[in-house]
Amino acid sequence: MSDTQTAAAESGSVELRGVSKSFGGVTVVDDLDLSVRPGEFLSLLGPSGCGKTTTLRMLAGFEQPDRGEVLISGAAVQHLPPHKRDINTVFQSYALFPHMTVAANIAYGLRQRRGVDRSQIRPRVAEALDMVRMTRFADRKPSQLSGGQQQRVALARALVNRPSVLLLDEPLGALDRKLREDMQVELKLLQGRLGTTFVFVTHDQEEALSMSDRIAVMLNGRIEQIADPYTVYERPATAFVAGFIGQQNFLPGTLAAGGRSVEIAGGTLQLAEPVTAPGAGAAVRAAVRPEAVGVAEKPPAEPANALPGTVAAVSLLGDVLQYLVHADSGQELLARVPRRQAGRLADGARVWCSWTPADVHVFPAEASTPAPIGSAA
Ligand code: ATP
Repeated sequence: MSDTQTAAAESGSVELRGVSKSFGGVTVVDDLDLSVRPGEFLSLLGPSGCGKTTTLRMLAGFEQPDRGEVLISGAAVQHLPPHKRDINTVFQSYALFPHMTVAANIAYGLRQRRGVDRSQIRPRVAEALDMVRMTRFADRKPSQLSGGQQQRVALARALVNRPSVLLLDEPLGALDRKLREDMQVELKLLQGRLGTTFVFVTHDQEEALSMSDRIAVMLNGRIEQIADPYTVYERPATAFVAGFIGQQNFLPGTLAAGGRSVEIAGGTLQLAEPVTAPGAGAAVRAAVRPEAVGVAEKPPAEPANALPGTVAAVSLLGDVLQYLVHADSGQELLARVPRRQAGRLADGARVWCSWTPADVHVFPAEASTPAPIGSAA
């Protein structure tokens, strides 16, 4: 038995095998394979329209795949309706019962279910209310709550069932920034404590990075990269992932013979590891993150990986100063420097931007992603 099969047989595992879905002849999920381990927090991350929600809806049973299999805890469920799957879903629209109190809304699912000890309903509802910090709103009706509060009730209503798998479609989208950040931490702690498998849809890369065990970065109905947040951030597999997760300075250039450096306008980029593909002389895009770029008034000792230029704009981003530098060779460079580390340079200052070889990632110059979906399936 392979590792995948072993994992799939465990309660709480989720698997998609060769799943495709089209609407009106347009493919929105394209031969997707995905394996989520029991108890894992996996985020589906990608731009609007990449197929995240459709993927989640096929897991939940609200959409049928055209092709492929959906397995929950090792059993094929693609033909089962949502209520027959060991899954609960928190969608963007929370659809609470308007005539019931918050507590009654949360208790509803438990009351309908067979085999739930009646004496356990009240403490479980209280626990779920506490999880989402809504205890003091227990007796209110949904119409007396803000949108964000209603979303938290929807979350509590799903969690109270203690499903093996919880599907969440941008559940924190309606919350203000502070509460959203608090909830991210709480939700992650809660998930760890409950051991529930979470499949979490978001277009917010910071949210995905901060909460997930692994992130599946989607584009055009396919997974571009699936890995832990650190790997996705530090070792993006494609130029799309590199640009979508965090920010990048993309510098067009040519790969030198031996693959150890890239010639760019105004200089040479030394690479930490040789790049064998796409081959010497090939047009490439080198990517350097803004936080990897140092800004100084003096030239660095090592001339490679450095460009002179002029500060065009300075912005304070909390603890970080962001510089926009117009390089003399024509490129625009973003640099983010810890505020306390360096004196503030003014607009118009002559500077050198530099970075280390390990901070340079090289991608083919052409789009590394498949042609945009929109052609007939
Ligand atoms: P968002 O972040 O904007 O919610 P998403 O990645 O979740 O985007 P999906 O909701 O999965 O994207 O939609 C993928 C594509 O499929 C979109 O182009 C959307 O318009 C289309 N689509 C989704 N559901 C349907 C449907 N029921 N009928 C027709 N087209 C649909």
